[in-house]
Amino acid sequence: MKLIDGKNISEKVLKEIKLSVDDRLKCNLKVPHLAAILVGDDGASKTYVDSKIKACKRVGFKSSLFKLDDSITEIELISQIQNINDNDDIDGFIVQLPLPRHIDQEKILNKVSPDKDVDGFHPNNYGKMTLGIDTFLPATPAGIIELIERSEIQTEGKKCLVIGRSQIVGRPISILLSQNKSFGNSTVTVAHSRSKDLEKLCLESDIIISAIGIPEFIKGDMIKKGSSIIDVGITRVKDPLSPKGYRITGDVDFKSVSSKVGYITPVPGGVGPMTISMLLKNTLKACEISD
Ligand code: NAD
Repeated sequence: MKLIDGKNISEKVLKEIKLSVDDRLKCNLKVPHLAAILVGDDGASKTYVDSKIKACKRVGFKSSLFKLDDSITEIELISQIQNINDNDDIDGFIVQLPLPRHIDQEKILNKVSPDKDVDGFHPNNYGKMTLGIDTFLPATPAGIIELIERSEIQTEGKKCLVIGRSQIVGRPISILLSQNKSFGNSTVTVAHSRSKDLEKLCLESDIIISAIGIPEFIKGDMIKKGSSIIDVGITRVKDPLSPKGYRITGDVDFKSVSSKVGYITPVPGGVGPMTISMLLKNTLKACEISD
């Protein structure tokens, strides 16, 4: 069993980004600038945004945080987005999700300029991704690609099972795995909550990417010997032995699976750390495009 160390790979990506920023400075080019819009005071969203801002500092990016009250109207939020779209100093920005219930999330994401859409959620960029045109890829699928490529796991001709069909993970990674590129060329099956015979599908697969959010759902007797497992799931489960009272668990029962697999990502420390580094990589790309 080989462990795919997402923490280590993410560190490498951040170092590469930092080197690019240093090179830009040497050439008197502007440093990339990432902005984040945070609506309301949801604790988890605040933590995610804080770690994005912290990561910006580490690689030498400029960052801005727009904290907005959760009573903000849709029109006011759109106007704020328009201001950022028009601000030439900002290369890319994200609208931290989820948004308050009275705001139409889809409508808001469609207002982000596709040129600054470093989350890759705008329909223009999503469409380009589907067509195989170079664009900003959503951060988690981009992180999965990075993990697979840097671990030298072959995807060509392999049977891949993606479990979960969300817009942010399952659907995009299934598209990317089937594309006719160096990363891709797999035979992809997408399973979801209505799929039958999931166990059989798992047993037939060379690569499994699980993004469902059910702790320890995939057991050792469900997988083929030597297969590669990417565990995207992140669920807090109660743990009285932990000082925090909970622990973070993936979709995969690591204990029973690890003795059978070829490669596996741990949770935490697998896909999770990659998401922020890929967001920064997209921001660098946006900055380079606007040079
Ligand atoms: P989601 O929560 O929007 O949807 C879950 C998906 O799982 C659905 O498509 C559903 O059809 C499928 N599903 C549910 N029960 C199933 C079952 N019994 N069998 C087969 N499929 C089933 O999906 P999401 O937003 O992609 O999140 C999935 C998990 O990934 C969550 O734990 C989330 O926290 C985690 N996540 C992690 C990262 C990261 O950076 N590591 C990023 C995004 C999401």
